[in-house]
Amino acid sequence: MLIRKLFRFENAHIVRNCTSQRCSRSIHGHSYQVEIILEAQAFDQGQMVYDFGLLKGHIKDLIDSFDHAIAFWDKDNAEYIAYCQQFSARWISLPVSPSAEQFSRLIFVLVDAVLKQTVMQNGEADVALYSVIVHETQTGYAQCFRADVDNPRMGLIRLQDIIFSSQIQQEWSDPTLYEQLKNGQLFINPVVEPQVRL
Ligand SMILES: [Zn+2]
Repeated sequence: MLIRKLFRFENAHIVRNCTSQRCSRSIHGHSYQVEIILEAQAFDQGQMVYDFGLLKGHIKDLIDSFDHAIAFWDKDNAEYIAYCQQFSARWISLPVSPSAEQFSRLIFVLVDAVLKQTVMQNGEADVALYSVIVHETQTGYAQCFRADVDNPRMGLIRLQDIIFSSQIQQEWSDPTLYEQLKNGQLFINPVVEPQVRL
């Protein structure tokens, strides 16, 4: 079974090397919608794939990092990058282009890392990230599956190559979140005392 949780953020970028001149030569923004799709073959004690409320912690914080921020490819013009960092407190440096396709891969990597480092406490069996869909506009979206993340022809995305500005990190509920994620630290979900015994 699949479940889906929707997130939104507003982000600015330039998509270099693309055909559309408006995208490749002007800083512009989009109202993104992100669908996080989880899969499980069995339910937790609440008979859910995964409690939606549990996605409101680190996963929400990481996706919200992109909100009211500028995202740039770390291979872009050095002067442009320096200006982004100088005039935007919220910026994200990416090892790949900030296209919808790469956003879907980046967010897959981030959410997958959080889930893999989460200690489940409510009898979740095999919940895992199935797919991430990033809607860049009302009419266009990109969908990432696990095979796309592991595809070197689409570019390598490692956690350590995604850099969040200090302002973004300070706005997380735990400013050390990304260090913990990179260090493989475990995130422990709250213990649930069942009200109905099965
Ligand atoms: Zn765009």
